[in-house]
Amino acid sequence: MNKNYMRNKFAVIILFILLWGSVLTSCKTISIEKHMNLNENIESTSTLKTEPIQNHSSPTITQTSPTILPGPVTPSVEKNELVFANSTSTSIETEFVSPLEGFKLEELTEIVSNPFIYAGDGKDDGHHGTDFSFYQYKSFEKIEKLPVLSITSGRVSSVIYNRPPYGNMVVVETPFSSLPVFLRDHLLVLYTESEIPFHTNLSCPDFQLTENPQIIESFSLYILYAHLYALPEVQIDSHVLSGFPIGKVGNTGSSGNPHLHLEFRIGPTGYIFEEMSHYNNTASQNELSNYCLWRVSGLFYQVDPMGIIEYYLQNR
Ligand SMILES: [Zn+2]
Repeated sequence: MNKNYMRNKFAVIILFILLWGSVLTSCKTISIEKHMNLNENIESTSTLKTEPIQNHSSPTITQTSPTILPGPVTPSVEKNELVFANSTSTSIETEFVSPLEGFKLEELTEIVSNPFIYAGDGKDDGHHGTDFSFYQYKSFEKIEKLPVLSITSGRVSSVIYNRPPYGNMVVVETPFSSLPVFLRDHLLVLYTESEIPFHTNLSCPDFQLTENPQIIESFSLYILYAHLYALPEVQIDSHVLSGFPIGKVGNTGSSGNPHLHLEFRIGPTGYIFEEMSHYNNTASQNELSNYCLWRVSGLFYQVDPMGIIEYYLQNR
């Protein structure tokens, strides 16, 4: 009896050891399979604890592995950006507001003191923008120091401190993707009708185009505000909403009386003008070059600001 009992007990212990050994072996196999399939070892320790689900053969693990890998995060971000860039939703479209505080867009025609005059591609003559000024208008005593507001929402692509001829100036860039569709189409028609000049009457040392205007993929509307009273109140690369104050009307640079000089140009997206100057002996090569790029290269095509504003008012 006793011997039999001992023999049985011994047999049970041997059987138990054999079974335990086989369980450990199968655990190792599963963890190695997972490791290979996931191509990473973050979960390898914890998978050992969940091994009792022995049905987890490699096909199941392969299916779930893409969600564990960090890869899919990147494409989803890119997708969001694409949606923003191509969206025609009105929620992201910029609204035009008057650049002068207290004035409606419709009233601007009444205070134009010097209209846009197109002198031809490559020429620095004519008048590349529109001037606004008055001595007395309604309840306004003078235009000097009147707050200047950004017409559109966009990114500040230039802030120049008191250099000839623009004086204190700011440029705000608004991508076409943020403009109302009717305005975008109108601007594209204007741009494609333009011709890029081979000659300019302006002195432009070391000047050459860095981009072929025929293959530009993405356009922006650039608006320049010149002769501001004090140092502009914004910084390069900051974002402004339409109606955001960017300075005050002044008389800096080549200006005979306090007025706001506005320029509208269509150009390739993403340009920054850290410096810009001309018509003075102290202008650096880089300042001259940027002025030429902006004014006469044809890459930044000048359009009549009041023409665009009136088109906007008629079609919005
Ligand atoms: Zn002007």
